[in-house]
Amino acid sequence: MRVLVLSDIHANLEALTAVLEASQGSFDTVWNLGDSVGYGGSPNQVIERIRPLASLNVRGNHDRVCCGLSSPAGFNPVAREAALWTQTALTPENLAWLRAVPQGPLHPIAPTDTEPGVTCAHGSPIDEDHYILTMRDAWVPLQQLRTAVTFFGHTHLQGGFSQREHNWHELHPNLPRSGPVAWTLPLNPGTRHLINPGSVGQPRDNDWRAAFALFDTDLRTITFRRIPYDLTASQGRILMAGLPERLAERLRDGR
Ligand code: ZN
Repeated sequence: MRVLVLSDIHANLEALTAVLEASQGSFDTVWNLGDSVGYGGSPNQVIERIRPLASLNVRGNHDRVCCGLSSPAGFNPVAREAALWTQTALTPENLAWLRAVPQGPLHPIAPTDTEPGVTCAHGSPIDEDHYILTMRDAWVPLQQLRTAVTFFGHTHLQGGFSQREHNWHELHPNLPRSGPVAWTLPLNPGTRHLINPGSVGQPRDNDWRAAFALFDTDLRTITFRRIPYDLTASQGRILMAGLPERLAERLRDGR
């Protein structure tokens, strides 16, 4: 099975469209690690695009706040304003769908004697609101997980962490700014991985291009990719919605 792994789309329809076009024909299903909405100007369009494609959705912290399941009190003023706007912009049907998206971690492939298994979470598999930014953050999840691969998002940083006995590695795809941009990681037996496909709709690793990953369960590989998208149109939707200008600016900066 070939899985398109997406996270942190954040209501950026242009970025999602570019990712789906670039990976057309190279995936059998989609796993969505959450924060489908919040920040961006196209929450309904993004949900309507992702709903029929994704066989797995995990809720993100923005999803939770944007559908009213928790208070935006912990958000900064810009995120709060975007969450409250999203809540009023969503159709009743999309709001109901978002409320029903399950909390992670989820296990789309259970570990068995022959299958190393996969976990999916939005933040840390231990706490959906925790950020895995450093090896220190990754250490406890890597010790506790029974699956060989765990996909997570939330940080908007493409890459991850791997461990094989006493060997630890941070994974930084560092994809070139032009030309074909893909980096393939072979999943070696006995190594455990925490993998962040990066953010489709609001990358924060100083690269504005949409980030995503393709997981081939038969070849046992994960390919990290970046793709340019119609940034101007996406910024226009944020401004036309009356959302803070900062949200349009940060897309250009990849921050
Ligand atoms: Zn996010």
